Amino acid sequence: MIPKTELPADARPDTLAVRAGLPASPWGENSEALFLTSSFVQPDAASAARRFAEEEEAFTYSRFGNPTVMMMERRLAALEGTGGCIATGSGMSANLLLLMGLLEAGDHVLCSRSVFGTTMRLIQGDMGKFGVESSFVSQTDVDEWRAAMRPNTRLLLAESPSNPLTHVCDIAALAELAHRGNAVLAMDNSFCSPALQNPAALGADFVVHSGTKYLDGQGRVIAGALCGPQDMLRAKMYPLMKSMGLTLSPFNAWVVLKGMETLSVRMQAQSARALQLAQWLSEQPQVACVHYPGLASHPQHALAMRQQRGSGGAVVSFDVAGESAEALRARAFQVIDAAQVCSITTNLGDTKTTICHPATTSHGRLTEAQRQAAGIGQGLVRLAVGLEDVEDLKADLQRGLARLA
Ligand SMILES: *Cc1c(COP(=O)(O)O)cnc(C)c1O
Repeated sequence: MIPKTELPADARPDTLAVRAGLPASPWGENSEALFLTSSFVQPDAASAARRFAEEEEAFTYSRFGNPTVMMMERRLAALEGTGGCIATGSGMSANLLLLMGLLEAGDHVLCSRSVFGTTMRLIQGDMGKFGVESSFVSQTDVDEWRAAMRPNTRLLLAESPSNPLTHVCDIAALAELAHRGNAVLAMDNSFCSPALQNPAALGADFVVHSGTKYLDGQGRVIAGALCGPQDMLRAKMYPLMKSMGLTLSPFNAWVVLKGMETLSVRMQAQSARALQLAQWLSEQPQVACVHYPGLASHPQHALAMRQQRGSGGAVVSFDVAGESAEALRARAFQVIDAAQVCSITTNLGDTKTTICHPATTSHGRLTEAQRQAAGIGQGLVRLAVGLEDVEDLKADLQRGLARLA
C-alpha cells in the first residue's frame, strides 16, 4: 500500500520545506530514498510502448525523470509557489533551458547588467550566435528597462540582490512592464532562496535557481532548477531537457532535497549574522562603505525589506578605505589573507563563511572600465556569511583590518 502523501492544502512554507513532494516508493520510508538507477523495468512490452509515447506516466529512463529528482522538483515548486519545476544539472543549465525553451532567432532579451557574469555571456555570446538579440540595463532604474523594450522583447531577466554589490531590483515593477509588453519575467532567486523571497508571488513568470548555493546549503553539489507554469514547462522545456540532456543526477537531487529541509532556519540564522557583521563593519574606520540591503543606509533598503520578508540576506560586501587602485587592492588582499576562519573562495550559500575579492576573481574578466561602470572597485571584499559564531567572524575580519590601521 502506498502511504498517505497529501499534506493539508494550507500547509505553510516551513512544513512544505520538510515534507512537500513525498514519497516516491510504496515502502513508506520516512527519509526520502535515493533512487540510483539509470532505467526502470517495464511490466510488459505494450506498457513500455505507451510510456515511451508519453500516453501513460511512468518512469522509464533517468535522463527523462527519476523519483528522487521528482521529489526535489515538487518540493521546490511548492516553496516557490509555481505550478511546476524542472531540475537541471547546474544553475547555468537552468538558464539555458529557460532561454532555449522560450526564444527563437530574432527575439530580444532585456537583462539586468548586474546578473551573474556567465549568464550574461550565455545570453550575449552563445544565444547571440543563434540570432537572439539582447540588451543590458540598470539593475535599479525601471525607466531604463521601459525605454529599452522592443516589439520583439520576449524575456526580461534579473536577479536580486545583485552580486557582489547587493543592488535590489523592483520585481513587481519589472513583472508589470514585461506583461504590458507581451513578454515574461524570469528572476534568478539563487541569492535569497524561497525562504526569503518568492518572485512568483510578485508577478515573475519563471524562477531560476542555482541549487549549488543555499538550496544545498553546505557547498556539496552543483545543481539547478527552473520553476514556472507547469503547462509551459511541460510543453516547451521538458522536451528540451530530455534532448539536451540537462538532467540533474539523482544523487545531487537527493542532497538538495535534504538541504531544503533546513533552508528556512539556515537563511534566518545566516542573515542574522550578516546583519550583525554589516553593522559592525560600518563602524570600522578602515571600511569606507558597506553594501547590505538590511542596513537603513542601503539605497533600496525599504524595497528589499518588502520583497525579502524583512531580511537583508546573507551576502555582505564592503570597500576598504584607500587611495589608488593598487593601494586598495593590496589592502583588500591583506584583509582576505588574514582570515583564519573564513574560506577564501568565490562560492556562496555554504554554512562555511566565504571571503573573496570580486575584482580579481568573479569579475576578473571584465575590463577596468566595465568594472568601474559596475562599481566593483579594487578595494571591494565580499562575504557570504555562514553559520559560525559571529564573534569569531568579527575577530577574523578585525585581524585583517588591524593591519591597515
Ligand atoms: C552560481 C550562480 C549561477 C550559476 O550556477 P551554477 O550552479 O554554478 O551553474 C547562476 N546565478 C547565480 C545568481 C549564481 O550565484
